[in-house]
Amino acid sequence: MPPLKKLMISCRPARAGRKRKCYHDPKRHPIEKGDLLLEVREGLGWNGYCIECAIAMLRSSIDELSKLHDEFNGKH
Ligand SMILES: [Zn+2]
Repeated sequence: MPPLKKLMISCRPARAGRKRKCYHDPKRHPIEKGDLLLEVREGLGWNGYCIECAIAMLRSSIDELSKLHDEFNGKH
């Protein structure tokens, strides 16, 4: 059987090797060197998001997937 298709876009935790800007709000969400950030695949590169945005994005995706999972779970 082939591997299952992934529903989530690629993302990974990382540590900032230098000062970076959060892709969601570059002016107000600085990412300091050494900070934890979430890198999200975009085309050939990765966009970095601050911890606050990462938590909000993960929470919203978990909720979305959880609702979808509930639609299918136990229906077969
Ligand atoms: Zn942010």
